[in-house]
Amino acid sequence: MSYFDNNATTALGQNALFSYEVSLQEDWSNPSSPYRTGSRVRAKLEQAREELAEFFSLNKDQIIFTSGATEANNGIFANFSASAESDSSCLISPFEHPSVIDAARYWCKDKIVYLPTDGNGLVNLDKAGLILKKEKISLVSLMAANNETGVLQPWQELAEICSANGVHFHCDATQWVGKLDASVLSKCGSFSASAHKFSGPKGIGWLASKDPIKMQLGGAQEFGLRGGTENYPAIASMLVAFKDSQKRITELGSRALWRDEFDKGILATIPNVQILGSGNKRLWNTSMILLPEFENLRWVGKLDKLGFQVSTGSACSVGKKEGSGIANHYGFTAGQGRRLIRVSSYFQQSQSDWENLLSAFCLAYKELRSDSVNSSVLSL
Ligand code: PMP
Repeated sequence: MSYFDNNATTALGQNALFSYEVSLQEDWSNPSSPYRTGSRVRAKLEQAREELAEFFSLNKDQIIFTSGATEANNGIFANFSASAESDSSCLISPFEHPSVIDAARYWCKDKIVYLPTDGNGLVNLDKAGLILKKEKISLVSLMAANNETGVLQPWQELAEICSANGVHFHCDATQWVGKLDASVLSKCGSFSASAHKFSGPKGIGWLASKDPIKMQLGGAQEFGLRGGTENYPAIASMLVAFKDSQKRITELGSRALWRDEFDKGILATIPNVQILGSGNKRLWNTSMILLPEFENLRWVGKLDKLGFQVSTGSACSVGKKEGSGIANHYGFTAGQGRRLIRVSSYFQQSQSDWENLLSAFCLAYKELRSDSVNSSVLSL
């Protein structure tokens, strides 16, 4: 199988798997236990935190390990709604991940201002600056890279504008970390990341925040900000995966060109295709395609049989009534929304995997067309 759904999740890397296995066997003690095996795990855990903090030029107590990015994003909104003045709003993009949009709607109710956009998956920075001057905003949240289109947002510039205006800037960096240089994220007031997007284990991530964010009541773990026994084996494995990803980022080479060639090939062979966000800067691994005909689940089924795993959009939109955030942003009809396919590679996929994916799309299109001709002949 050729796996092209890495924005949903990645396979555990070899080094991360090894570290996980060893740590599960050796480091299973509770890090808060007072005897030597517990203290040993505590020391390792704090060492891992220190390494991450150092990478981002943060203090140790500014890294809080969480179950992933959903928890980290929720925590930011819960915390700010509790402390913000009642007449202040939060400012977010309309195509944030559900863990941001839904948390904003739940905690900030009608006190949400949406960032204006170019209509092609990118927020408009000039207008964001004006909003910050005109409106009373207590929290700004913008994703670094969109999970569906891969469009890179001007979060670094917005972080600077927020800092000049004394407003906390949060960045959902889930799709950035592991694919691009993560060290620049230290510009943010806070940011979230998730290990399973960069070949680490699922159920582990972090919130890095310059302001203390109360995440979870309970024990005194995580500086009293997130009660609950820490999952050290997952943390150890995540750190290994993170370091591996940062090394590999230096060898990105022409990976973005492979995706661009794929896009060109699709546009040339299937009529009336649209690539969402193309023309804007995108992650090197992602392409979100609006196909001219046939429902995306039929495409997924055909491609699956041909040995390629692709998705119908964000895994987190599956089962949600309002569908994909990006489909809403583009103002697509429900029918168009059901013709979206996202393909996303990671470091394992080669240039020939992209070329083979293109051939598979062309073959799937041919087969779907002939299936529909055959079924209309049968129904005559
Ligand atoms: N934000 C973005 C942009 C994502 O792509 C995802 C994962 N789909 C999340 C947040 C949630 O991450 P997690 O699975 O760690 O909760």
